Amino acid sequence: MNVFSKVIVAWYKVNKRDLPWRESKDPYLIWISEIILQQTRVVQGYNYYLRFIERFPDIQTLADAEEEEVMKYWQGLGYYSRARNLHAAAISMNGRFPKTYPGVLALKGVGEYTAAAICSLAYNMPCAVVDGNVYRVLSRYFGIDLPIDSTEGKKYFASLADEMLDKQQPALYNQGIMDFGALQCTPQSPDCTSCPLSETCLGYATGRVAKLPVKKYKVKSRDRFLNYIYVRVGAYTFISKRTLNDIWQNLFEFPLIETATAVSEDEFLSLADFQAMLAPGEEPLIRCVCRNVKHVLSHQVIYANFYEVTLPEESVSFSRYQKIRVNELEQYAVSRLIHTFIEKYIS
Ligand code: SF4
Repeated sequence: MNVFSKVIVAWYKVNKRDLPWRESKDPYLIWISEIILQQTRVVQGYNYYLRFIERFPDIQTLADAEEEEVMKYWQGLGYYSRARNLHAAAISMNGRFPKTYPGVLALKGVGEYTAAAICSLAYNMPCAVVDGNVYRVLSRYFGIDLPIDSTEGKKYFASLADEMLDKQQPALYNQGIMDFGALQCTPQSPDCTSCPLSETCLGYATGRVAKLPVKKYKVKSRDRFLNYIYVRVGAYTFISKRTLNDIWQNLFEFPLIETATAVSEDEFLSLADFQAMLAPGEEPLIRCVCRNVKHVLSHQVIYANFYEVTLPEESVSFSRYQKIRVNELEQYAVSRLIHTFIEKYIS
């Protein structure tokens, strides 16, 4: 075994994080934890994981559930396609988790990283994981400035990761390098002075730690302006399900008008789309509850305004929306933006 891998495994044995999914070799539980942890911090994912596996302890329970219930358990984690894919993949398994790398990779929503993690952790297969932590540790330790998001870079790091993998104990090594990246060689403040690899780390020796890893492309982010309408008709309100191929697909929300730019309250009230939601001659009581609520997604920044529109009981406005009791809102899976609004202003 090379020095690098030896140090990583030794470091891991002393410093590993005690995480509930690490107690198990069950591929189902490892799969759930890996999907939850994509784009989610461990601290946040921890409770979601426990709640999720308590309700869906095995493949069949998940497969038998309604998609809406699965989404409800995912609510607040974001990237909802992950939950839809989990559910679809569970249905496709017919109660048996695949036992080969190609079989695991073929599951909906499972990419190379996740397949390698499941196969190495559950079956001890010699598959090297390559995630953000691994890119960072390898690029710094070996002083490599090939962009990690270029085809050449990806190929190079995949082969280097494979070369470094401790083939005798891939589960230990893979978890080791990921924890090492998360705790020791962190993105912003790596602890180089106490690092057991510092004497042989090229990035450290050449003063390039902060510059590594290198990325070629910057992800472009776009701004979106959402105006939500929380309607009150006695004890009722209106919602609808997002069906478009867009963020928050299949989640519920209040009636929405998206505008190309930010609009003032007066501009909003005179929008034709808003007027079209009202029955002719209707003059509701309108109040702006909050403006410019910023909600950051991976490639989009949402600026949301929330208006409360109060209507008389006999009103027929908003008739194309689903009418529900306000106290039933919590039964519907909604985005974190809507969830926060409900908690803050309605509950
Ligand atoms: S010395 Fe610093 S940069 Fe190098 S592996 Fe250790 S923590 Fe990372």
